[in-house]
Amino acid sequence: MKIIMLGAPGAGKGTQAKKIAAKYNIPHISTGDIFRANIKNGTELGNKAKTYMDQGLLVPDELVVDLVVDRVRQEDCVNGYVLDGFPRTIPQAEALDKALAAIGEKIDHAIDVNVPDENIVHRMSGRRACVGCGATYHLEYAPTKEEGICDACGKELILRDDDKPETVKKRLGVYHEQTQPLIDYYTNAGILKTVDGTIDINDVFQAIVDILGE
Ligand SMILES: [Zn+2]
Repeated sequence: MKIIMLGAPGAGKGTQAKKIAAKYNIPHISTGDIFRANIKNGTELGNKAKTYMDQGLLVPDELVVDLVVDRVRQEDCVNGYVLDGFPRTIPQAEALDKALAAIGEKIDHAIDVNVPDENIVHRMSGRRACVGCGATYHLEYAPTKEEGICDACGKELILRDDDKPETVKKRLGVYHEQTQPLIDYYTNAGILKTVDGTIDINDVFQAIVDILGE
């Protein structure tokens, strides 16, 4: 069972990817983890990636694909895997398909966790972080006992720049521009499934299980 997760930043696709990995006993693979592992182990691909990252440059698509394909060929991926945060663009998706085809494999499901932008902006703008200990809260979903005060250390809570509506909207704009075409790409491939990401986390997961099978 080889799965790709699609969804805007803040849609909750990482949470669902973890739940899928646990239920079906397949690895949850994020590009961030692959980069860290390869750099830590000083692999040839990792060292290459590091030279770009050290200069503040984006790691080129071919190298990202090489890293991902190298990861999915490892033994623990024999029954499948769930890719989280990759591919992000059409060139990456095409390169991945090509590399998988070369080893006789293909992606089985692309799952889009769909949440309207306004919901994501609303969710993010409710987040609060403690200036003292860094603990995070949410005005609606994880409120503190006393408003604006950290339960753990008593310091003040703030809305981080990353969670401010204007920042979130900018990020969503980039997402739609780059990743929306992937929705069409996987629709054409006949493997796109969309789930409503606005409902309860466990209900979203049930909808995914309905797609993948028990
Ligand atoms: Zn605190």
